[in-house]
Amino acid sequence: MSAAPSWAASAAASAATSGLAVPAASGDAFGWKGVARDGAARAGVMRTAHGPVATPVFMPVGTAGTVKAMTADGVRSTGAAIVLGNTYHLMLRPGPERVQALGGLHRFMDWPGPILTDSGGFQVMSLGALRTLDADGVTFRSHLDGSKHRLTPERSIRIQHALDATITMAFDECTPYPATPEQVAASMRLSMRWAERSRQAFVARAGYAMFGIVQGGTDAGLRAESVAALRAIGFEGYAVGGLAVGEGQAEMLRVLDATVPLLPPDRPRYLMGVGTPDDLVASVARGVDMFDCVMPTRAGRTARAYTSRGVLNLRNARHAGDPGPVDAACGCTACRRHSRAYLHHLFRAGEMLGPMLLSEHNIRYYQDLMRGLREAIVRGDLEAHSAAVRAEWEAGKEGQGSALDPPGAAPLDRHT
Ligand SMILES: [Zn+2]
Repeated sequence: MSAAPSWAASAAASAATSGLAVPAASGDAFGWKGVARDGAARAGVMRTAHGPVATPVFMPVGTAGTVKAMTADGVRSTGAAIVLGNTYHLMLRPGPERVQALGGLHRFMDWPGPILTDSGGFQVMSLGALRTLDADGVTFRSHLDGSKHRLTPERSIRIQHALDATITMAFDECTPYPATPEQVAASMRLSMRWAERSRQAFVARAGYAMFGIVQGGTDAGLRAESVAALRAIGFEGYAVGGLAVGEGQAEMLRVLDATVPLLPPDRPRYLMGVGTPDDLVASVARGVDMFDCVMPTRAGRTARAYTSRGVLNLRNARHAGDPGPVDAACGCTACRRHSRAYLHHLFRAGEMLGPMLLSEHNIRYYQDLMRGLREAIVRGDLEAHSAAVRAEWEAGKEGQGSALDPPGAAPLDRHT
């Protein structure tokens, strides 16, 4: 048994007692390693400076340094291994310098695990009349107070560095949908120039990564051109952006079919802003490893529960006297400790515990769904498993009549 040097032990003890962030234990490089394949689907492990992440993985969205209505412990209790933060929101409030001075986003939000940050591009583009785009970057007015700001690839990467993002996203223009083929091509090529500038601005550190973002709308040729441009630059991971913006699931899957096979097989693949449980099942089958979406938390705040038997609206009167759990297959706090009737009461009474409990439940459901897919890939029966999951959603639909209302998230408002 080898004793650790006493200075190391005392440094660690002093860091622990002083509340300082303990440095990453390993200087290992960032990487993704496949452990199993089933058709195009992959199960793997992503290694990062802030711990490993089993893939495929769903990343809860913590836009402004919090997964809305959830404590960090609550997020951890769902099995989530990595969360998102957002450059746009955090640059406006409280500001990247303040987050950095307070020890970085991990310490600020009590999430020592991996954090991926959006580049801010998507939110800035969503501002519409409040922003002007030029070849160098975007000037925009804050949605909070109207103050003027500017984001360029270099500024976005500097902010993500100050936040201490484990995974930094390249700054891109999320191509509007619909758009003319000329607009899509020009937008994609601008994003590829920005990807090059983003890469140059990125400070490489062991266990940290930058992902490039494939654009090109629904045009397979432009998507292929975008992949080639990004591969020439070289990134630790590759994201597919510009989807789930109103094109519909069939079109989105067609784009994935044309794009995912072109991505390097040894790097993680991230489908941005997607999606419904069915979107995740369909995309995992196509070889996507990482997802984020506000649907589970937003739905949770509006009384909608994703369950193994479809979507429930807990405001519905038929739950008012129901002593059963939201989902008998779920181990979250709401399902272990409370009845549908109690959840119904909380939402009817406008009590904040309702959104808290249902946000945790929905994130837990997404985590359980992804774990099920991962295990099915390892077993080699993803197709049968996915069919069984979908059959159960359908069976619930028949039994529950009108309970299966659509989640109703506006696609362009998906990051809050
Ligand atoms: Zn639950």
